[in-house]
Amino acid sequence: MASPSQRRAAIEPAGGEKRKQEPPVEEPAAKRVKTAANNFQRHTIFWYDDGSVFLQFGTTRMKLYRQRLALNSVWFKELFQKSDELGVPIDVVDGLKLFYLEPTGVSLTDFEALLIAMEDGIEYSFSKPTFPVLASIIRAASALNFPKYLSFATTVLECSLPDKLDKVTKKPVPYAADAIVFARTQGLQQLLKRAFYDLARTESFENSATEKHPVHKLDPADLVRLLCLQKRLTVAWLQAVAPPPINCIKSGCSVKAFMVPSAVVQEYYLDPICGIGELRKWNWAEKGHCVHCQDARPRWLREQQMTCWKNIDELLDLGDE
Ligand SMILES: [Zn+2]
Repeated sequence: MASPSQRRAAIEPAGGEKRKQEPPVEEPAAKRVKTAANNFQRHTIFWYDDGSVFLQFGTTRMKLYRQRLALNSVWFKELFQKSDELGVPIDVVDGLKLFYLEPTGVSLTDFEALLIAMEDGIEYSFSKPTFPVLASIIRAASALNFPKYLSFATTVLECSLPDKLDKVTKKPVPYAADAIVFARTQGLQQLLKRAFYDLARTESFENSATEKHPVHKLDPADLVRLLCLQKRLTVAWLQAVAPPPINCIKSGCSVKAFMVPSAVVQEYYLDPICGIGELRKWNWAEKGHCVHCQDARPRWLREQQMTCWKNIDELLDLGDE
């Protein structure tokens, strides 16, 4: 029996090695069926000798517990009750039903991720699944109606791409482009705002024309949105570092004359949310602001930050939420 880490390693291609498959197993001649059932490989992990149902993806066959699948999936429960009505080809092998799952459109990799979450879900309370694994779980759980696992993976993904202003940290997620494509295909709008922001501030895409950069996966409309967003972010930042429209007649107050150092301006030209966050933390009294302005300037900066974040909704057609 594979350990939890072995199972996770099997679907997380960290080492780039594809797992080895056992050689094809031939059924006893008397029990051969006429379809591709003769030529298959046992899944190296999901083959339980006392399993009660066979599932096959391509030429890879699994032997699993029917009851466990039915308990977690509305779709499997229905499949086992009304086998003929869901358009899934069926054979009988060794007295057990064998279902060919190609018509579901679910890939072997996605289904494996879902099974691992079922088997070793407790492991994920110590280390969160990666983005590709979460995407796999969501695709499979959505197509085959595993509500508990769909909810779990969607919630974890939402937490990794929160759309709240105060959750924006300096480090962008590395899978922002993939997250946008995934959010579009799965109808998960709530992931778009943070994913777009993180992609927009990640880099200038100077090398992406010739290299295989994930930004190429975006559809043309989203690429245009990305370019518009980068422009808007830069404009928002340049406004934030300009002197604020604060009326001050105190002699000696620096509010109108103070210049944000150019190194700071350059550092955040695509990341006004974090840039403004830095400015808000500054000690403006030390920078020559009077008592009134050392309070008014961070307040004005906060308004700029909130406006910048809110304006992204309009660009992405995200509505009021
Ligand atoms: Zn002042």
